[in-house]
Amino acid sequence: MVYQANEARYETMKYNRSGRSGLKLPAISLGLWHNFGGVDKFETGREILHRSFDLGITHFDLANNYGPPPGSAEEMFGRVLATDFKPYRDEMIISTKAGYYMWKGPYGEWGSRKYMISSLDQSLKRLGTDYVDIFYHHRPDPDTPMEETIGALDHIVRSGKALYAGISNYSAEQAAQAIEIANRLGTPILIHQPSYSMLNRWIEGGLQDVLDAGGVGSIVFSPLAQGLLSGKYLNGIPSDSRAAGASVFLNEKNITPELVEKLRQLNDVAASRGQSLAQLALAWVLRGGRVTSALIGASKVSQVEDSVAALNNLEFSADELALIDAILK
Ligand code: NDP
Repeated sequence: MVYQANEARYETMKYNRSGRSGLKLPAISLGLWHNFGGVDKFETGREILHRSFDLGITHFDLANNYGPPPGSAEEMFGRVLATDFKPYRDEMIISTKAGYYMWKGPYGEWGSRKYMISSLDQSLKRLGTDYVDIFYHHRPDPDTPMEETIGALDHIVRSGKALYAGISNYSAEQAAQAIEIANRLGTPILIHQPSYSMLNRWIEGGLQDVLDAGGVGSIVFSPLAQGLLSGKYLNGIPSDSRAAGASVFLNEKNITPELVEKLRQLNDVAASRGQSLAQLALAWVLRGGRVTSALIGASKVSQVEDSVAALNNLEFSADELALIDAILK
């Protein structure tokens, strides 16, 4: 069946400007780290992509290594782009990244110009597109001069293979240095992609100030703490959840009785606001307008629907924020 995008797709989504740039991103974006690899069911992933775009999610986030196997999430998205999304390419922001291990030998990871440019060329082939909208350096490289890595991003944008440059997982100090170099070269950093959630507040200690001062946006990954900040782990570990699967980043050891008690209390706050816990967690990262976009994952269409509905209630009273802080202490 030919995919036809929902005519009403722009009616409810909120779009936020990324820093002091011309680019707006949806308040909720979708990432393809999990659930879109060669090991996953193609049709399920395709349905999630369709529903997301129909709900106004114009931004899809990838990386060279997403899968498994590495590279297969880009191939999956490339297939959907070729068959379903092609007429909508100019309505989409597609990002990819290089930084983590991708291939054997000294040029297959980190931040050399050699790796960055070769990796993006491979990503473009897998995606079947001439350019991505945002290309990121995925993690800081302690051994490569930052001038070289940021210089590679500048070259890539000038070559037309990416429209904007981003950084991910950089500390406040590293981000400040990258922003300065990029501005000097004339290709400003559009956006930073750090982790952030109610359970992981490290960006509040300096990074957010650096980004605000530099006019750089932020798109925060794992805003649901990989699903912990949803109702699903309140009564054990469901068999179809990420914690029950093969993830090395989330397993039953993470789900301690102390954490579940906190989640229960947060769930009560969510209920008092007429929200699911996932909706509360997303509204919370977007509070006050400092974060450009919350970058979610999803294993089911219903999760995207639930998460996007967080936008129906983004306001917090001072009492609610204080109560959440007290629970998280
Ligand atoms: P989330 O914190 O949003 O976790 C997503 C998972 O939570 C889903 O796969 C699903 O898990 C569960 N979930 C999502 N929505 C709901 C809901 N409404 N109700 C109940 N459960 C829900 O983000 P991710 O950790 O998946 O990361 C999101 C994206 O961020 C990635 O795809 C990637 O693009 C990016 N990322 C970037 C990194 C970087 O270094 N730059 C690192 C990590 C991620 P379940 O399987 O249990 O159903």
